[in-house]
Amino acid sequence: ATPMAVMVGTGLGASHGTLFKNAAALEDATKLDIIIFDKTGTLTMGEPRVVDIVASTGRMPEQVLMLAAAVEHGSEHPLALAILDKADALKVPEAKNFLNLDGKGARAEVNGVAVFLGNRRLMDEESISMDDLEDRAEELKGAGRTVVHVAHKGVLIGLIAIADAPRPTALAAISKLHEKGIDVAMLTGDNEGTARRVAEELGIDIVLADVLPGQKAEKVKELQAQGKRVGMVGDGINDAPALTQADVGFAIGAGTDVAMESADVVLMRSDPYDVVGAVELSRATLRKMH
Ligand code: ADP
Ligand code: MG
Repeated sequence: ATPMAVMVGTGLGASHGTLFKNAAALEDATKLDIIIFDKTGTLTMGEPRVVDIVASTGRMPEQVLMLAAAVEHGSEHPLALAILDKADALKVPEAKNFLNLDGKGARAEVNGVAVFLGNRRLMDEESISMDDLEDRAEELKGAGRTVVHVAHKGVLIGLIAIADAPRPTALAAISKLHEKGIDVAMLTGDNEGTARRVAEELGIDIVLADVLPGQKAEKVKELQAQGKRVGMVGDGINDAPALTQADVGFAIGAGTDVAMESADVVLMRSDPYDVVGAVELSRATLRKMH
């Protein structure tokens, strides 16, 4: 084993925007059984946009969007930004007592009335009935949309469907990893239906959905407990514990500083195919060492 080969390997990586933090990371990257990708921003562009608004009977889509935007004013979640962007031309009322409901949505009061918005789990927890929108919600999820449910006075008033396109190289990266004998999983706080559809499109057969931000590292641990060596690719603050827990954590893109600090490998570009490059580079370097 020559330190020189490691230096050459890491140097070659750096010229492609791939930074191995140490020799152990380079070696561990040759042995991965499974690589978990965070969905939003890693496999997808992370630029969600509103593509559909469905109002309950007797409601107007504008009202749904207006109330949702009022609440989302208090949020920095990518889904909130998509809703605010769509509501740009509307006169959005002011909301009070905003509360972020981590991994589920948010709530606030508009003209003294509680407005809840977020995923199905939040609606169930708040005992808000889906009424006549159940089928539409399932249909939208089946099409790969993230569905934001909007409830006013304890009643569901509509759905906002949001799309986030896959990154152009995601499909090829996943198929190449499979070719190399590495399993690929998708990890997301998004719901199962939406996640499955996106995964299907990308050729991913292992889906870990409805995962709360605090549980991402736990999912990595569970796979490790099965004897698997696990790589984790993510970009967000809430991915940091999972990046640390993984045998090799890959921080991708101009992600957060926290993610970059927690990772073993930093991929400077937001290109999922760079994970393939990193694995290939590690294997080529280790071959030179033996
Ligand atoms: P991820 O980043 O993996 O999608 P999050 O934990 O950020 O996961 O969010 C999980 C789910 O909670 C989202 O898919 C969405 O349905 C809901 N959610 C969270 N925050 C908001 C928000 N501000 N507005 C609407 N929905 C939200
Ligand atoms: Mg997130």
